[in-house]
Amino acid sequence: MNKKVDISWNYLENVTEALDSYKIRAFIDAKDEIIDCGVYNEYQFFEILFKMIDEEKLKFELYNYLKNNQDNGFSIIKQFSEEKKIKIKKVLSLLELLEIEGLIFLEDINKSNQNEDINEIFTKNFEDILIKVKKSSLKELKTIYEPVKVIFNSNICAGCGICAGICPMDCINIQNGYGEIDENKCIRCGLCYFVCPRSFLPAEILNIYQNKTSNIKNNKNLGPYLEAYVARTKVKEIKAACQDGGVSSTCILYLLNTNEIDAALGAKIGQNPWCPEPTIIKNKDDIINSAGTKYVNNPNLKLLNKFNLEDKKIAVIGVPCMMQALLKSKIYNINIPSINSVKYRIGIFCMESFSYEQGFLKICEKLNVDLRDIKKTNIDKGKFLIHTNNDDILSIPIKEINHLAREDCEVCFDLTSESADISIGSIGAPLGWNSVLIRTQKGKELFEALINNDLIESKPIEEVKPGLELLKKTAIGKKKNSYKHIIKKLEQNKKVPIY
Ligand code: SF4
Ligand code: SF4
Ligand code: SF4
Repeated sequence: MNKKVDISWNYLENVTEALDSYKIRAFIDAKDEIIDCGVYNEYQFFEILFKMIDEEKLKFELYNYLKNNQDNGFSIIKQFSEEKKIKIKKVLSLLELLEIEGLIFLEDINKSNQNEDINEIFTKNFEDILIKVKKSSLKELKTIYEPVKVIFNSNICAGCGICAGICPMDCINIQNGYGEIDENKCIRCGLCYFVCPRSFLPAEILNIYQNKTSNIKNNKNLGPYLEAYVARTKVKEIKAACQDGGVSSTCILYLLNTNEIDAALGAKIGQNPWCPEPTIIKNKDDIINSAGTKYVNNPNLKLLNKFNLEDKKIAVIGVPCMMQALLKSKIYNINIPSINSVKYRIGIFCMESFSYEQGFLKICEKLNVDLRDIKKTNIDKGKFLIHTNNDDILSIPIKEINHLAREDCEVCFDLTSESADISIGSIGAPLGWNSVLIRTQKGKELFEALINNDLIESKPIEEVKPGLELLKKTAIGKKKNSYKHIIKKLEQNKKVPIY
């Protein structure tokens, strides 16, 4: 923090409140244990600490500004943004944090409780908000970020793995979609809760951060996107190994070959047949080994701190909850080195995931298939399909196996990886092709590079059937289902994610 600051009472008040934040105190108190643990060295420890203090200070500055101001609409946000010379989206992200922490309350004056449009439920119009500041003692209101055990225990964990990937004490273990914490090592800093996409996820803020250009098609069913295509790989080794169009594998091949990235995080089949495990992808062989969709939950992001990714550039291929975790951590950035290393978010469509024993193996049992006979699995036209080595196709309607999917996935509203740079999946595309939603400028440049280098062929999604309509319909269906389950959990007084 060797920058020039104007030391005023106001400044000191904000710094004091920041230093009094529970997660900062826990972090400072456990400095020696954290450095001994070895996930972060002393330099990284202080980088994280100072960034957390800066962010907390700015948040309390906003809180005190709101508290001391008469105006309580969007104009106060604009005023704060102009005075402090910070972007409105940054102020909005802090505003959401203040609400999540219970320090303010945001009322959307035009939102009806009877709203029938499912998209409105997961969005917020900040221009229509009234800000109500809670003025009781800050000490009473300050949130304690607890360890994510509470997320595991409430059956809402997405199994993304980011908590394990950033924990400074390396004390979270996620296996087969379920997590546990070594209580003897945990310092209760709450960083895991802070980054978790199922503790709180300000969905509208994520959309605002994605939405950087005026060309955006803000289709709320599919999240913000620039362009939509179908595409398939021209790389013959990938074509032979991939599930559908092979576009995600081709993205990684191009990024590695051009040194845009040093490695990618993905999933490959592990020691147990058809049971995936997180993997680091560094070359073409790794890409071929990791090709193909896996329907068993796999916490890719837990590898974030297992390898020395500092000063590296990485891409992550993963499902929507992983893209949400990464974008959330980018917005609420606390200088975690491995998260800063993520340069590309390559999202895969995901309807639901299964645990290995209680899900995937039970489906195989129902279809009476030996694991060693399986060549490929996929979901198409409402059916789960298993292709065997003898070229038989065994199928079962999804509705007959829905009960085997993870309960944790029921609250997930995102089908198409709305928080990715580029989203890829099979829904909407003809057989052997991928549907591709380009969401950010970076995603657009990557897709164009694949075409210019003759690595893929593509056509606008409007030219194919079933196309965008099926994708939208399936995406709305997932949002509705998620909302239904959230309401059910609330009626049962169960914990739900704050979206
Ligand atoms: S489990 Fe969570 S609260 Fe405990 S040390 Fe790790 S990050 Fe901190
Ligand atoms: S959702 Fe991700 S970050 Fe949250 S508890 Fe589960 S694995 Fe950890
Ligand atoms: S359904 Fe959602 S929570 Fe479950 S694995 Fe897919 S993206 Fe993650």
